[in-house]
Amino acid sequence: MAVPQLPVLAIDVGGTKLAAAAVDRAGQLLAADRIPTPRVASADDLFEVLADQCRRVLRAAETDVVAIGVGCGGPMEYPSGRVSTLNIPVWRDFPLRERLVTAFDRPCVVDNDANALALAEQWRGAGRGSTNMLGMVVSTGVGGGIILEGHLLHGFGGNAGHIGHIVAWPDGPPCRCGARGCIEGVASGTGLARRVTAAVAEGAETRLVPGATAAEIAVAARQGDHLAAELFRTAGECVGRGIASAAALLDLELVTIGGSIALHAWDLLGPPLLSELERSARLAFTRNVRVVQAELGDAAGLYGAAMLAFRSLDS
Ligand SMILES: [Zn+2]
Repeated sequence: MAVPQLPVLAIDVGGTKLAAAAVDRAGQLLAADRIPTPRVASADDLFEVLADQCRRVLRAAETDVVAIGVGCGGPMEYPSGRVSTLNIPVWRDFPLRERLVTAFDRPCVVDNDANALALAEQWRGAGRGSTNMLGMVVSTGVGGGIILEGHLLHGFGGNAGHIGHIVAWPDGPPCRCGARGCIEGVASGTGLARRVTAAVAEGAETRLVPGATAAEIAVAARQGDHLAAELFRTAGECVGRGIASAAALLDLELVTIGGSIALHAWDLLGPPLLSELERSARLAFTRNVRVVQAELGDAAGLYGAAMLAFRSLDS
């Protein structure tokens, strides 16, 4: 039997929330805290808010921790843990890992939030039992984490898994990265909003207003708005095409899809995704890839961060 281990401190950092928890090996959250990401003047101010939150959690959990795991919005560098989280403008090349090690005197691993979500689904969600899976997120952006032969892939600079920037629509809508037809530019919340704006400017007949949110587009699509329905159809097709490509490249067994759009608009995204996947994945090993919705909700980031820490202790 494995030696019982002290819990770890799990941290989930994003543009909209900061979350922290003490998590044990069985996956119990011993204490957890979640706050909106504050708008503060400096990188240090934001770090102090996060460090205070961690201290609150450790006091409430009444336990010591052996390591710290962090899932953080990218871009970032792995393993150095220097982060430039897109939606946190005060952190640019911020040495988050180093600062946490100094503040809490524990080993710390900082990884991409999409990688953390993939580990979470494998540990406690829809990916249980799979050692060759892609954990995808379709939300404000589109991202993914790849677990292959049980290993979480990082690549040259820690950026493996960026499925959102696979080009699935040649000369398609522009993406924030500068390319055209990336899955993220077509199917993410920000991509959908930009596509509505462009379509309205071109005179499309729709009840949608420029910059509409994914939730608003979903409501309109269900009420028969043609533009809204078309946006979701093409979004689903591009995600399906991207999964077919990823499956061919990686020999995947399973793809889990989470994130707000996958969670709240699967009725619109899922059918075109699965039919395009069937059309595009024609090899015996790509045809067999299972695509399922992610099972974990808000706590997924914390579970994933905890698993990052446990894995770093085991390696
Ligand atoms: Zn892109």
